[in-house]
Amino acid sequence: MANDPRAEHFWMPFTANRQFKASPRLLEGAEGMYYTDTAGRQVLDGTAGLWCCNAGHGRREITEAVSRQIARMDFAPTFQMGHPLPFELAERLARISPEGLNRVFFTNSGSESADTALKVALAYQRAIGQGSRTRLIGRELAYHGVGFGGISVGGMGNNRKAFGSSLLPGIDHLPHTLDLKRNAFTRGLPEHGVELADELERLVTLHGAENIAAVIVEPMSGSAGVILPPQGYLQRLREITKKHGILLIFDEVITGFGRVGEAFAAQRWGVTPDILTCAKGLTNGAVPMGAVFVSEQIHEAFMHGPESTIEFFHGYTYSGHPVACAAALATQEIYQRENLFQKAIELEDYWQDALFSLQGLPNVTDIRTVGLVAGIQFAPHAESVGRRGYEVFRQCFEDGLLARASGDTIALSPALIVERAHIDAMVERLADAIRKAA
Ligand code: PMP
Repeated sequence: MANDPRAEHFWMPFTANRQFKASPRLLEGAEGMYYTDTAGRQVLDGTAGLWCCNAGHGRREITEAVSRQIARMDFAPTFQMGHPLPFELAERLARISPEGLNRVFFTNSGSESADTALKVALAYQRAIGQGSRTRLIGRELAYHGVGFGGISVGGMGNNRKAFGSSLLPGIDHLPHTLDLKRNAFTRGLPEHGVELADELERLVTLHGAENIAAVIVEPMSGSAGVILPPQGYLQRLREITKKHGILLIFDEVITGFGRVGEAFAAQRWGVTPDILTCAKGLTNGAVPMGAVFVSEQIHEAFMHGPESTIEFFHGYTYSGHPVACAAALATQEIYQRENLFQKAIELEDYWQDALFSLQGLPNVTDIRTVGLVAGIQFAPHAESVGRRGYEVFRQCFEDGLLARASGDTIALSPALIVERAHIDAMVERLADAIRKAA
């Protein structure tokens, strides 16, 4: 590929293109827990693709549902027109969503879901006569996709720095909750840090609640390297937002569909937001699709005015795309039939014990796990931040394990069909890679 001019045309997302094309890693097949690369090697998938193939790869039911749907009707508009599938899917999703969040807007990705959620929040405040509530609050290190709304409330410097003052105005960021001094190597949710939620009170005092529309957080930050919410933190955010009439948005693009042992993290941690976003696991990654759940109360606020008015000037050509809906319905059927969300709970202790066996290996400064997700953090290389994480990731791939590096953290998030033997193999390969990279 290094000398192949045909390789120059694809501008790869979130990738060091020049480095990649000099020594590419290419996958061409996928089945169950494994990818096959272009050299014919089996690669154990430790990341469910990109946190999305929660039912494992190559699920026949999804393939068949998609092919049947393309053959029957490839596309149909959902603007002032419709077809039955998104209605059926929304009804099905409302059965597993957190209580009360039973109105569903469809998008095509996590980024679109985040921007949609922010727009719903702003439009809702206006609809209920709270039009001065235009400020949004995100969090440091947060990832909410790459739309302008998402990077503005997001808190990853690299994703924002090229855009300067073109980011949305009127946004503040709560502190992140990563605290290696107090919480390193905690099993499950960290003990310390609930008080970080009180920063929200400070922002309310600063700006006035009457100017703040919504707070958006990932209940567990994924892309920043699996940062778990301190015990009581999400509850505290919920109390403060409720007290001040501020909407709470959970971005569950990663945590949705069983990653932490319930359909959604909101349920696992007993905190119900006003708006919830998802994508990825919705279709098992097979077809792009996202969704935004809102409470009945929010939805109702849009349904006044004459019947002939369009309630919300927002939507995508592919909102509720028939092929995506078919993939999502087949996926949800598999999750339910195989009781996959429950598997993340059943395996949680085994997973945690396996991961914590890495404690003490060179440069490992923290291990964070919950459900079937883990972050293993390394002391940065003297030369550059992120290099250690990348080296471990590269070594893992060479040894037949797909892991995910974000900065100097390696994240693992296997499909929920994972078995103990896969977990053992993952941790063994990762341990080897950590030793080699040191
Ligand atoms: N929100 C969160 C929490 C995510 O983790 C991601 C993707 N990793 C997104 C939004 C963006 O999703 P997409 O890449 O589908 O736009």
